[in-house]
Amino acid sequence: MTAPGGSGPADIAITGVEVFLVRLPVKLPRKHGSGEVAGRVANVVLKLTTDSGIAGWGEAAPWTVFTGSAEANAAALDVYFRPFLLGANPCRVTTLMREAEKALVGHGDAKAALETALLDILGQVSGLPISDLLGGRCRDEIPLSFSIANPDFEADFELASKLYDEGLRLFKVKTGFAEHACDITRLERLRETLPDDAELRVDYNQGLAPFEAITRLRDIEAFRPTFIEQPVPGDQVEAMAAITAALDTPVMADESVFTPAQALRAVEKRIADILSIKIMKSGGMLRAREVAAIAEAGGLACYGGDMFETGIAHLAGAQMIAATPNISLGCEFYQATYYLEQDLLAEAFPVKSGKVIVPRTPGLGIRVDEDRVRHFAEISRG
Ligand SMILES: [Mg+2]
Repeated sequence: MTAPGGSGPADIAITGVEVFLVRLPVKLPRKHGSGEVAGRVANVVLKLTTDSGIAGWGEAAPWTVFTGSAEANAAALDVYFRPFLLGANPCRVTTLMREAEKALVGHGDAKAALETALLDILGQVSGLPISDLLGGRCRDEIPLSFSIANPDFEADFELASKLYDEGLRLFKVKTGFAEHACDITRLERLRETLPDDAELRVDYNQGLAPFEAITRLRDIEAFRPTFIEQPVPGDQVEAMAAITAALDTPVMADESVFTPAQALRAVEKRIADILSIKIMKSGGMLRAREVAAIAEAGGLACYGGDMFETGIAHLAGAQMIAATPNISLGCEFYQATYYLEQDLLAEAFPVKSGKVIVPRTPGLGIRVDEDRVRHFAEISRG
């Protein structure tokens, strides 16, 4: 390895690209306005090796009804990105991400995996955590949100009470997958039972039709949610703008905003008060920070969303949020701890008293358990 400032990290080259499609058993079924996830979740893990001995890891966590499929994102890495990666300098992150954009449209999850692995290497070469590469930290801890999405509400209710006792204060209730009356009952129960300092947030995952949205959401406002997320389909931007104008409660856009260009449109049309930032939607941390910067310029706040991720992608998100002041409403990186039967990190993803503690060690900050990746891999290409 060459130290920065000497002859430079320019001397290192990527010598291996390994792509694993993993299927991971989960503990809880999840139901959303846009679909159900149960049994196993399919993700893609990327390992880049270099001639310096340093390896970098990244993860693509697509959801078929949201950003795409694991199979397509594995092919993006294996077939379309591999040719320009082999022999390239992994520290030229911006250049390689431009190559990825030229090679293949879309596939933000695969691009997030690639950028994560490159920044993991650059961090290890530099001796810095990724948050420092991104300009340095504005926070070391991120309030964690747990999503109440189990069709068996009693099971989630019990878990939510336990998490409250452990210090967690943010609860995001998934609505719009059953009757409106059922959403009201669940919110009533949570509001009555959880202490006052528990924050409720509501996410429809596009579950309402525009014609019915405003009347139903006025009922939901009675439970004082911090925000209401993506009530109508992502492409219904005029309806999002009308809802945002009509409600007192802040509205958050998730499925409506993937890219910086869409963030610009969201600001111009005031389709929301808040944006959910996800590295899987924007195609990596750097693009996600562009979304956050546009939101900030337009006076919108941001929240750290995620997909059904392992600790690898959680670490990427946490490092990014640690360095991005405008992602101020916490994060939902609960899956590694509470959703997956087994995570892919060698140590537990760091959650303490309802907060994610962002690691300070170089790169992503925690090692990947390679044996476990190989154990759960249905397909490996290298
Ligand atoms: Mg959402």
